[in-house]
Amino acid sequence: MESALDPHAALALLEWQVELGVTDAIGDTPVDRYALPDTAPRPERPVAAVATQAVPPQKAPETDPVQEARKSAVRAASLPALREAMAGFDHCELKKGARNLVFADGIPGARVMIIGEAPGREEDREGRPFVGRAGQLLDRMLAAIGLDREQNVYITNVLPWRPPQNRDPLPIEIAMMKPFLERHVALAQPQVLVLMGKISCDAVLGRQSITRLRGQWTQAMNLQVLPTFHPAYLLRQPHMKRLAWADLLELKAKLREQ
Ligand code: URA
Repeated sequence: MESALDPHAALALLEWQVELGVTDAIGDTPVDRYALPDTAPRPERPVAAVATQAVPPQKAPETDPVQEARKSAVRAASLPALREAMAGFDHCELKKGARNLVFADGIPGARVMIIGEAPGREEDREGRPFVGRAGQLLDRMLAAIGLDREQNVYITNVLPWRPPQNRDPLPIEIAMMKPFLERHVALAQPQVLVLMGKISCDAVLGRQSITRLRGQWTQAMNLQVLPTFHPAYLLRQPHMKRLAWADLLELKAKLREQ
């Protein structure tokens, strides 16, 4: 076959094609593929790819743990349902490090409801509030004014899970568990609340200054509320027991009135 190319140009073209990776001549006659109709099948774009290109990537909506707690707490129609709702609440990191949920102890519906801070080691182990040394002191304090968790007191905490190394609860932990505490009080229907220590004062009254608050009746959650020292504090500061005794007498007097 006669070629219009001079041999040097033909060789240069051939070398160029070899450089591009051509290994075989597949036809005797050259084909101008640019002149052919466009019949080659185009690869279909996968549906998922189309979708991701069409819609810009969406950020997962952030959940508000306080809002989630509110929704969960209001749905609970009884104390066992509230306990279940709290056990199923996964937004509080403390749950991951705790052995047990510490819900409550004593008599639901009792006139007096005590709110402590959070479980310690013993409480975490047993799943009951105030069973360690502070709890034993609490039982003796209550007995001194004729109260007993087996008969006429209901006890819970602001937090149902033990904070690591018994550290103070964080404000966000208090905030997200508060809807459960409010529901707990509403379902237990006590006549008075006793707040033990600064954390429960913070959760219920929004104030931590226990030395100023203690012994003064105030109003919260539609109830009469008495702040007093935490028994763990009294174990460390026994000279404060005198003031705690005055608070207990206040409580006894109030129960007589009602
Ligand atoms: N301290 C608390 O506040 N609550 C408990 O249950 C035990 C110790």
